Amino acid sequence: MKILIADRGGYCYGVQRALEIATDTAEASRGPIHTLGPIIHNPGVVGKLADAGVSPIQGAGEVDGGTVILRTHGVSPDVIAELESRGATVVDATCPYVKVAQEKASLLCEQGYLPVILGEHEHPEVVALAAHAGERAIIVENVKELDEASAAGAIRGKVGVVVQTTQSSDSLAALSERLAPRTRELLIYNTMCSATRKCQDEALGLAGRADAVIVIGGRNSANTTRLAQLCRAVQPRTHHIEETGELKREWFKEADTVAITAGASTPPEQMREVENLLRQWYSN
Ligand code: SF4
Repeated sequence: MKILIADRGGYCYGVQRALEIATDTAEASRGPIHTLGPIIHNPGVVGKLADAGVSPIQGAGEVDGGTVILRTHGVSPDVIAELESRGATVVDATCPYVKVAQEKASLLCEQGYLPVILGEHEHPEVVALAAHAGERAIIVENVKELDEASAAGAIRGKVGVVVQTTQSSDSLAALSERLAPRTRELLIYNTMCSATRKCQDEALGLAGRADAVIVIGGRNSANTTRLAQLCRAVQPRTHHIEETGELKREWFKEADTVAITAGASTPPEQMREVENLLRQWYSN
C-alpha cells in the first residue's frame, strides 16, 4: 500500500501560536487560568493543558478574577469588556488572520456598507465577526440563504462581504457571482485564511490520487468537517476520524493508495499514528 501524507495537514499557524501562548501563560501567571471554551477541538490536547493548570470555561459569567485566554476564533468586544469588569487579565490568542477579518467587519460597518458574512451561523468566529460588523450584519452560510435574504429585500444599498477564515474558495466564488448583479456597490474582503486554502488544495490533490482518504480531527471542528467534505467530493471513500482506533480494515479493501490529512486542530503526530497502523496492517 502506498501512503500519501499531507505536508500541510495538522496544526495551522494560528493554533500552534495559541497553544504556545497558553503554555507560556501557564508558566508565567498566578491564580486560576482559563480558556474561554476549549482552546482547540482536541480533547487530548485540552486535557494536557488542564494538567498544566489551564482549564476551559464556557462563558465570561463564570469568571472571577484570574487570567482568561481567548482562543483563535476571537470574541466580541462586549465579551472582553465583561471579562475585564470581572477582574480578569485577558490574554488574546485570537489568530492574527481572524483579527484581520474582525477589523474588516468593523470597517464595513463604519463605512456604511451592509455587512454580509459568509460563514456558519453558530460558529464562535462568525458570532464574533457579526458583533464587530454591527447590528445590520447578515450571516449567510451558502447561496441559498443569500437568495432567501435577497428575496426578503434584506440585500440593499452598498454591500460589503467578509468571510469566515475557514470557508472554501468555491463558496466565496459562488456568493460573489450571485451578489454582484444585485448590488450597486460591492466590496469583498477575502478574509479566508491561506493556511486553510493550502491545506484544502493539497488534500484535494492527494484525494485525486488515492483510493481512500483519512481525514483526522474533531467532529465538532468546522475546519476538519469541511476538509472531509471536500475530499469526499473527489474520493467518496473518505473517512473522517477523531482517533486512530476508529480505523476499520474494510475501508481499505483493494485500496492501493491511501491519503492521510488532518484539520488545523490536530497534532501532526496523529497522522503518523494512522500511517503506522496502516503500515502494520498492510506491510506485506
Ligand atoms: S485556520 Fe487560519 S485563521 Fe484559523 S487559526 Fe489557523 S491560521 Fe488562523
